[in-house]
Parts: sequence; C-alpha cells; structure tokens
Amino acid sequence: MDLRWSEQEEAFRAEARGWLTAHVPHGLPSGDTQAGFARHLDWERALYDARWAVVSWPERYGGRDASLWQWLIFEEEYYRAGAPQRVTQNGIFLLAPTLFEFGTREQQDALLPRMAATLDLWCQGWSEPGAGSDLAAVRSRAVRDEARGGWLLSGQKTWTTRGAFCTHLFGLFRTDPSAERHRGLTYFLVPLDTPGVTVRGFPRLDGDEGFAEVFFDEAFVPDDGVANGAGVLGGVGEGWRVAMATTGSERGLTLRSPGRFLAAAERLVELYRSRPDPARRNQVVQAWVDAYAYQLFTLQQVTAIADGKQPGAESSLNKLFWSELDVRLHETAMDLLGPDGEANGPWPKGFLFSLAGPIYAGTNEVQRNVVAERLLGLPRTGR
Ligand SMILES: Cc1cc2nc3c(=O)[nH]c(=O)nc-3n(C[C@H](O)[C@H](O)[C@H](O)COP(=O)(O)OP(=O)(O)OC[C@H]3O[C@@H](n4cnc5c(N)ncnc54)[C@H](O)[C@@H]3O)c2cc1C
Repeated sequence: MDLRWSEQEEAFRAEARGWLTAHVPHGLPSGDTQAGFARHLDWERALYDARWAVVSWPERYGGRDASLWQWLIFEEEYYRAGAPQRVTQNGIFLLAPTLFEFGTREQQDALLPRMAATLDLWCQGWSEPGAGSDLAAVRSRAVRDEARGGWLLSGQKTWTTRGAFCTHLFGLFRTDPSAERHRGLTYFLVPLDTPGVTVRGFPRLDGDEGFAEVFFDEAFVPDDGVANGAGVLGGVGEGWRVAMATTGSERGLTLRSPGRFLAAAERLVELYRSRPDPARRNQVVQAWVDAYAYQLFTLQQVTAIADGKQPGAESSLNKLFWSELDVRLHETAMDLLGPDGEANGPWPKGFLFSLAGPIYAGTNEVQRNVVAERLLGLPRTGR
C-alpha cells in the first residue's frame, strides 16, 4: 500500500477544501426534524449545484468521475470542514451503488440524476415488526397483476429512517410465498405518493421524528413506472442478492467513511484541550488512534477493491469497528463534559445517536456471527 497522494489527488483535495471552507453551513438544526430536513436539503442542493454532491458518480449523473481515493479525500475534507451528515444518504450511499450494480441503463438514467439533485429522496424499507435481524422473515408481499402489468404491494415496514420526509422507498417484498425464504423476495422501488401507501412518522428517543412506519394496502407498482421511480430492481425473485449488495455498502465503506471519525476524534482532542482531565487522557488517545486505525483499514480495503477484489463479509468487520469506535469516542466526550453533557448540544446528541450504531445496518451480535462463520470458518450458531 502506497500512502502518498499523487499531485492530482492533492489538487483535488485543495479544490474541495477551498469550496467547503467557503460554503459549509454551521449550526444547522437536526436533519431528523421536518424543518431541519428542509434546511439540510438546501445545503445538499448547493453541493449538487457545485458538483460536489456525488463526486464518484459519472459526470452525466451529476458527479465528477472521481476515483475511490478521491472520494475518500472528499469525505475527509467534508467532515474536516464541519459539514453535516447527509440526509440523502440512504439514496446516494445505499441505493445508488446497488443501482450501478443491478439497475438497467434506463433505471440508472432516470433515477440517478434526480437522486443527485435531491429531487427524489429515498428511504430504506426493509425492517418489519416481525423481521429485523432475520430479514428473510419479511412478510410484506407483492402479488402479480397481469391485467394491469405490475405488482400490488401489501404489508408494513418500520424503523424507516426519515421516511416521513422522503418521496420514495426501496424495499424487500415477498413475491413467491412458496419459495425457500431467501429465494421468494424481490427488491421494489416505490414512490411514496402511490395510492395505497400510508406513511406515519414517529419520534425517536431524542424527540426528533426521524422514523416512520410505512403501510402498503394493494399499492400498485407498474412495470413501466421507471420515469416515476417505480419498478423492480435486479429481477423478480432476486431480492435477497440485490439487498445483500446494499447491506455491503451500508456496513462497509460508503455510509461510514473514515473522514467522519477522524473529524470527531480531532474535535475530541480539542475538547480535551479545553477541559484537560488526566484521568481521561488515555481514553482520548485511544479514540484518536482508533479513528486513524480505521482510516488505515479503509485504505487497505480500497487498495483491495482497486485490485478487483470484492469486499463481501469483510464489511461486517468495518461495521463492528466504526460503530464501537463511535460509542467509545462519544462516551469519552460525555465523561469530559461531566454534568455539562446533559445539556443539548452536538456531543450529547451525537452520543445518543452513537448508541444506535450497534443496532442499525444489522446488529453487532449478528455481525459477529457473520465474522465467525464466514471469515473465521467457525461452526454455525444454534446447530
Ligand atoms: C437508528 C436506526 C435506524 C434504522 N433505520 C432503518 C431503516 O431506514 N430501514 C429499515 O428497514 N430498518 C431500519 N432500522 C432497523 C434496524 O435494521 C433493526 O433495528 C435491526 O436490523 C435489528 O432488528 P430488530 O430491531 O427487529 O431487533 P431483533 O432482530 O429483534 O434483535 C433483538 C436482539 O436480538 C439479537 N439477535 C437477533 N438475532 C440474533 C442472532 N442470530 N444471534 C445473536 N443475536 C441475535 C440482536 O442482536 C438484538 O440485540 C433502523 C434502526 C435504528 C436503530
């Protein structure tokens, strides 16, 4: 692994840094409230207008054809400048890589530019009241309507992040109830204004209404609905395979680039300098070292990807590392803040959200099972 950046990469970094320093908004409200979400969208539109929204995508879709390395550089600069987490992340970081892999050219041409421009806002409809860790237990179903040329969707999704603010949902539905659990699933793209779809927002523990339940009552998804963002992605009955590509993005690189943790570790060091507490010194150093270790781990992974390897089950290792690092880092900040940590502010808010990291994108217990079985070759649990 060569840790030096090329001249072009340094130039790319300088350009990104210059633009971000001049434009990043500070003090935006939480993007998980209706009003805050709208403010974040204004910011993300500004990113799009300057072609910084989706740097690694092809130019024809609003990107810069940037390499994975340049994308990592951009992410470092993004968080270093204090820019907020992307409220469009479920679309641009989860659905988009899946569309690049499994979408038809027609789907890519129709959906990606609108997603980049924040015209279509995507949420993830996988979890159900009876299907979380065991995602293959999904019971929401899609029944073929041959006469109308499409599918009728029924059932319920839950824990849909920012579902109440989004325009579209990608989700798993059972199209063949007689097939083996993982085989009878299909990956659907659904506009949320489709008749028969009801979105009901509900608040999280911190009070923000960032979650939704989504109900489907014979909602019709036409075969030829691509212009409206409706249809099947990756083929009928292929939903599990397509969904696993999305989870690879969610657990691995794209959703949690190291830039985010590097910036948080630097802020932690600043916090320590403003209120030194020798008893916490080692925790601060450890958090900083861990963030940089995650960066090196990621660089190693990107090197492998650039050499043509597929990350696969390694993304579970990423997920374990970043989610547990995030909890430790925020716990240390809360320790340093002492009673001040009870006030509202970025650290307490970040701390509460860090606690969700070991749950979303597949719980860490389940990731440990994946690492044990697929990477270490240990016997399967419960058999
Ligand atoms: C902040 C946040 C955002 C989310 N956003 C979305 C979203 O946008 N879209 C979406 O579809 N879902 C979303 N989720 C839901 C998330 O994917 C689920 O919460 C998660 O998959 C766990 O499922 P569950 O809540 O049903 O818990 P369960 O699956 O019921 O698990 C309960 C406990 O049992 C443990 N467990 C279960 N099975 C095993 C096993 N085989 N071995 C060992 N332990 C096991 C789990 O680790 C957990 O501790 C979100 C969750 C959070 C917290």
